[in-house]
Amino acid sequence: MAEARPRESVDLHVFYKRMAESAGSLPDLYAAMESWSALVVKENPILECQQGCARCCMHQVLAGETEWALIHAWMRDSLSKDQRQTIIGRVIEQRERLGNPLGRWLGMRNKHPRAFVRAVGQGFRAESTRCPMLGPDNRCEIYPVRPFVCRAYGRARMPSGNAMICEVFAGRFRQQERSTADVQLEDMSVMSPKYFALGGRATSDDGLFTLLAVHLLRNRTSSGDLAKQPTPLSAEKTYPVVTKEDFPTRR
Ligand code: SF4
Repeated sequence: MAEARPRESVDLHVFYKRMAESAGSLPDLYAAMESWSALVVKENPILECQQGCARCCMHQVLAGETEWALIHAWMRDSLSKDQRQTIIGRVIEQRERLGNPLGRWLGMRNKHPRAFVRAVGQGFRAESTRCPMLGPDNRCEIYPVRPFVCRAYGRARMPSGNAMICEVFAGRFRQQERSTADVQLEDMSVMSPKYFALGGRATSDDGLFTLLAVHLLRNRTSSGDLAKQPTPLSAEKTYPVVTKEDFPTRR
C-alpha cells in the first residue's frame, strides 16, 4: 500500500499553489516558487542538485521584459562594471564562435517568431550553448534574479503531466526504479499563466520575450557595460522578439 503523505505536506503544497495563484508581481511569484521548490526537494531528496553541476544552464534562456527589468536593475546595483562587461563579453564571444547556435538564432529576426521559439526549444534538447550568466565556477552570476524557467526547471510538472527534469535526475529515477509520476512537484498549470501575465510586460501591452543574450546585447553601451536603463523591447529591430502566443500551447 502506498505510504500516506503527511497531512502537513499536502497542506503546504496547497498553500504555495494559492500563493502562486495570488501573486501580484513577479517577485511575489518567485517567492512562492522558492518556498514551493524547497518543499519539493525536502520531500524528494532525489531532486537535490549536485554541487557544481550546471547542466541545466548549458542553454540560452528566454526572458520577458519585466523579468529583464528586474535583472537589469540588479546587475546595475549588485555587480561591478567589470562583472557586467565580462557577462556581455561572453555573449559576443559565443555569437562569433563557429558552430555555436547563438549566432544562428540571433539572425532569426525575419523568420516566423514561432520558428525562433521552436529552434531555441529544440536547441535546449540537442545543442549546448552555455548561458552567458554562468560563471567559470559553474555558478549563476544573477542567481537572486534568475528567470522563471530557471526556477521551475527540476522542480515542476508540466500540464501534460511530464516532470521538467534533467538527464541527471531522470537517471537517478531509473536507477532507483522509481517513477516521476509518484512525486508531488510544483504545478506549471498554475505558475505558467501567472508568469505570462506578469513576466512579459514592462513597457508593452503585448508581453514581449527574447533571449537573455539579446537583452544583454541590445542594452550594452559602447564601453561594453550595461546601459543605466533598459531599452523597450517593442523598439527592437535587429533581434528576434516573441509574444506569449508564440510559445507552444501550455496544456
Ligand atoms: S540565468 Fe542562471 S540559472 Fe538560468 S540558465 Fe543562466 S546561469 Fe543558469
